[in-house]
Amino acid sequence: MLAPEGLLYTQPTVFPSRTDVVFASPWLAPIVWEGSFNIALLDSIYKPMNLTIATTVFAVGKYVAFLKDFLETAEIHYMVGYKVDYYIFTDRPGDVPNVTLAEGRRVRVMKVPSSNRWQEISARRMEMIQLLIENTIRGQADYIFCLDVDSKFHAHFGVEALGRLVATIHPSFWTLQRDQFTYERRPESRAYIPLGEGDFYYGGAVFGGLLEDVRAMTKTCSQNFEADTANGIEAAWQEESHLNRYFLYNKPSKLLSPEYLWMDVAGWNKEIKLVRFSGVEKNYAEIRPN
Ligand code: UDP
Ligand code: MN
Repeated sequence: MLAPEGLLYTQPTVFPSRTDVVFASPWLAPIVWEGSFNIALLDSIYKPMNLTIATTVFAVGKYVAFLKDFLETAEIHYMVGYKVDYYIFTDRPGDVPNVTLAEGRRVRVMKVPSSNRWQEISARRMEMIQLLIENTIRGQADYIFCLDVDSKFHAHFGVEALGRLVATIHPSFWTLQRDQFTYERRPESRAYIPLGEGDFYYGGAVFGGLLEDVRAMTKTCSQNFEADTANGIEAAWQEESHLNRYFLYNKPSKLLSPEYLWMDVAGWNKEIKLVRFSGVEKNYAEIRPN
């Protein structure tokens, strides 16, 4: 059979190209590692779709200082060749840097109130993303990614990361057993995950998917966070704890390996062939409001 015009039917000579990591979860969601995909093939499938990828980034208080490096490195490595709308949430719109963007890529600044608790800023992201999807992005984008701002891109981060509901395996836990994961362990919290349960420990710094799936997820997480607050409890890792609970009962359709969420301070592992996106080392006392 002839391939549709423009579609590339190339395969790497050897596939899978490595056997040191697993390429699928127990529910058969792909786990994206270097060597698990062919980017030319993926581009030939995704390019004709003319997609727009909404990307949220929160830069509240002193975190605006991270925006320049974040945006400049994103323009080099993130969804290159695709339309991206960056939604920057900040209380300091005047401090958003003017970074030159490739054609088809835009910055939209969303004003949000300041806060004097970092836990609050971090956790409130869920509700703001839900409202952004409902009020602004619907009909204007196909996929959404929600990323931490205190980070830089170092290598290709493209359409291989797209999926219905995308979670990222946290770089501090991928070599550990599930009972060592820092899930919320108090049954009183709506983020509770009992010992013996859970698949992976996911990071709150990189998640995404189709608008509707991310809307449902952020809505549930923010509702559960609010219910906890009303009961006088805050989950161990705020929205990350609620995210982990959500993904336990709503399995992500694609998992990104820790290549997509590394930390500059993390030690090296031989399975990490390259780091695509990494959190910068920061002085918490200097940068956070509390
Ligand atoms: N954040 C912010 N201002 C703050 C604290 C947090 O804008 O004062 C946002 C920012 O996008 C940041 C994210 O919340 O990347 C998560 O917080 P942080 O990076 O401090 O958490 P960590 O990655 O260190 O766990
Ligand atoms: Mn961070």
